Formats: sequence, structure tokens, C-alpha cells
Amino acid sequence: MVMQFEPVIGLEIHAQLLTRSKIFCGCSTAFGSPPNSQTCPVCLGLPGALPVLNRQAVNMAVRAALALGCRINQTSLFARKNYFYPDLPKGYQISQYELPLAEQGVVELGLQPGDEKGRKEIRRFRIHRIHLEDDAGKSIHAPGGVTYVDLNRTGVPLIEIVTEADFRSAREAAEFMAYLRQLLLYLQVCDGNMEEGSLRCDANVSVRPVGATEFGTKAEIKNLNSFRFLRRALEYEIDRQVQVLSSGGRIVQETRLWDETGQKTVAMRSKEEAHDYRYFPEPDLLPLVVDDAWLDELKGTIPELPEARRQRFEREYALEPSVAELLTQDRAFADYFEAAVGAYREPIKIANWMIGDLTRELKREGRHIGDGRIRPEHLAELVRLVEEGAISGKIAKDIFVKMYESGESAGRIVEAEGLRQISSEADLVEVVERVLRSNPDKVVGYRSGKKGLLGFFVGQVMRETKGQANPQLVNQLLLERLENGFVC
Ligand code: ADP
Ligand code: ZN
Ligand code: MG
Repeated sequence: MVMQFEPVIGLEIHAQLLTRSKIFCGCSTAFGSPPNSQTCPVCLGLPGALPVLNRQAVNMAVRAALALGCRINQTSLFARKNYFYPDLPKGYQISQYELPLAEQGVVELGLQPGDEKGRKEIRRFRIHRIHLEDDAGKSIHAPGGVTYVDLNRTGVPLIEIVTEADFRSAREAAEFMAYLRQLLLYLQVCDGNMEEGSLRCDANVSVRPVGATEFGTKAEIKNLNSFRFLRRALEYEIDRQVQVLSSGGRIVQETRLWDETGQKTVAMRSKEEAHDYRYFPEPDLLPLVVDDAWLDELKGTIPELPEARRQRFEREYALEPSVAELLTQDRAFADYFEAAVGAYREPIKIANWMIGDLTRELKREGRHIGDGRIRPEHLAELVRLVEEGAISGKIAKDIFVKMYESGESAGRIVEAEGLRQISSEADLVEVVERVLRSNPDKVVGYRSGKKGLLGFFVGQVMRETKGQANPQLVNQLLLERLENGFVC
């Protein structure tokens, strides 16, 4: 009998908060400054220097925790997590241990692939805890066995988000991570830059026989700094553990690393060699108290979150699930959509322009929606002009490019360039009849059964009118003449 195994995964995520200064001192958090230029006695851990908690860091941490459905502990405590490391001058990290800032979160997430209609499957993932802590510095290993240390990062504010072991595949864990990143960006509490280390992830993974209730022994894969690495490392590690267990072996609890070159995880240290952290209460910091008024104020700053917004877009604007998803990826993009729909309620048409032409133009110039030149009301006006028959769909495409280049409104471009659609019968009859008269052989052809020639006539009329003729009217006028004995 072949035993079936099920993976069990929990994530520990560090997110750097977007404050201008560090968590316990006034030093700048700017990235990329000369090494060791942003330090002071507090973040260098010099004797006698006292930490002072940064209120902005608390604001951001609480907002992230609220958005992740957590309960906020209105009193939480700081602790010293002692360990030796060359880039940790204090000899300890200031973290939270026994009483963290937040606990017991729940995140509802729509996962792909959904049902046959493309609707996503809604899953719930729980957050175990979220706490505040300061970051360590950075060691730079140079050629020749020399190691430099840069302490600019020492004391930068972090939140650590620990999930419950609720993920049952590498894909689920990676989708959650992507959602978390999107959420932190929506809230503007983290820049989400995984390459620069502003968002880092450790993945805990074990496997167990399908149907078992106990968890298996886990391995922890450290420092997965891209979605691709996270997913590949988990897929590899799940396979490895299944193979070990299937061949009668056992998993040892250990820390592993993802080796991108070898496309495999490799053992780093076993449980026995693991850091045995010692936590002590932090004597220099008072308990953190977030009173009711402060908490209420922060609750008031939480915007509609991307998953809720995606679901609302589907319902309220009758959008395809994939379209609602694309529109809500980015907060500014979703805001743009709602501003345009507010100006003219044709959500599907507006969404199509945004996902098609607008995204293409923005990408071509490497711009973000916020610095594009077409205002949402202008896009709405363009859609309205098409819907009202003032311009043809084809001309609208050209106008769009002109709008994008000039920042002008659609109406002004139409007036200035005389692009209004010709929808008056009187104006079109003349052109239609002229086209028929200049092609008597094709008229005969059509009447002898080559109905496809209608397209040829439409094309000719469009050419004569520089694309401004109303195509429905052109069709109608041509058919009236071709089907009923109009004489050339
Ligand atoms: P540790 O004591 O090793 O730090 P924790 O219990 O604090 O372990 O859990 C750390 C992370 O590992 C959490 O995200 C948790 O959900 C996850 N986790 C714990 N046990 C397992 C397991 N057996 N398999 C997979 N993930 C696990
Ligand atoms: Zn400092
Ligand atoms: Mg732990």
C-alpha cells in the first residue's frame, strides 16, 4: 500500500515598517546610505543609552494587525532576546515575548483555481501572533575572508507575523504571502521590497499521513526572499520529507536553507545546535499601552482591504472574477477605477480600457497609475462619447493615445480634430451610394450570392470618412441598397 502524505506549513514573516526613523532612536531608516552613517549610542547599544519607543512604529504595527483580523493586546511587553552575533552590538534584540502586541488573527482569502465560473475558493488562515522588534545590522562578506559590518539597519522597526500551520500546499503559502505583501502595501506600512529585505519569510514545513491529526516533525527553511523561492523551496522540501518517510526514515527537526543554484534545500543546523535564546524583561521600556481612544483612532484609518474590495467589485460592478482581481491588485489602480465609474457608470467598459490600453501605455513608460496623464474623469468621458455614438470605437483608440500623450480631455481632442462620428443618415447616404456606384461589378457579385462583399463596401465607406462613419448605420444603409434594387 502506498501511503498518502499531506503537507503542513506555517510562516514566520518579518516586515520592515515604513517609518522615517528607527524604532528606539531618532536615526534615519533611509536605505542605501554610506555604511554606519545612521547610528547613535542607542542603536549601537552603548552603555547608558536609553531606548524611546517610536509612536509611528506602533501605529503601523497596530494597523497591520487590525487588517489581519487580530485581537490587539492593549498592554504588551518588551523583552530582550539575547544572543551573540557580530552585527548585533547590544548583544540582544528588543522584541516581544510573553505578551505580544497582537494575537489570534484570521484572514479570509479567495484562492485560485476557483469553481468552473472562475469564482475563487474562500479559505481562512489564522495568525498566531504579531509582535514588534528591532532589526539587527548587516554583515557583508567580502572576498579574501574579510567581513564588514554595516549598522545602519540596526534598530529599524520590524513586525514579526507568525501564522498558524494552516497551509496545506506550497501554492497556498505562496498565495498568502503575496496577499500579505499586497495588504501591507495597501496600508502603506511596508514597502514590500523582498530583494532589499524589507519583507522576509521563514517557512516551517512538515508532512503527515492523510487523515492524521498530529503534526509531523518540521523543518524550518530560512530567508526565502522571493515568492518563487518560497514556493520552490516548499515543493522541494515536501517531496524530500515524503521520500524520507516513505522509505522508512524519520525527519529530524532542523533549520535548512534554499540553495537556488542546486534547486534544493540543505541542512544548516539541527535542533541541538539551535540558538537557545534567553529572554529577559526589557528594563528600559515601560509596558506598551494602546488605550481605547488611540485604538479607535487607528481603527478609523483602515481602508477597505484588497480581498474585501475584490469581492465587492465582483458584486457591485458585475465584473468577471479575473477582472476584479486585476483592478484591486493595487490600491491606486482600484481608486482610479472607482473615480472613473463615479463619473460615468459603465464599469465593464472602463475596466477594459484600464486593463488593456491604459496598462499597456503605463508599462511602456514604466509608470505607475498615479503618474499617468489620463485623469479618471477623462477616461470616463471617452467611454461616454463611444456609448453615445459621438465617436466610433476605432477612433476612440486613437484618441486614447492622444489623451495619454497630451493629458487633454477626450471631448477637446474630438472637437479640435473634428473626429465626431458621422451618424446622420443624410451625410452618409451620399458616401454609401458613391461607393456602390464606383463598384458595379461587386454589387453584381453581392447579388449573385457573395454576401461577404458587404465587408468590402463597409471598409470603403470607412476609408472615405476617415473612420468616422457610424458602422451600424453604414451597414444598414448598404444593406437597404444592396438587398433592394438600388441601381448603380
Ligand atoms: P518553534 O518553537 O520551533 O519556533 P513554533 O511553535 O513557535 O515553533 O512555530 C513556529 C512556526 O512553525 C509557526 O508558524 C507554526 O505554525 C509553525 N509550525 C509549528 N509546528 C509545525 C509543524 N509540525 N509543521 C509545520 N509547521 C509548524
Ligand atoms: Zn540610533
Ligand atoms: Mg517559536
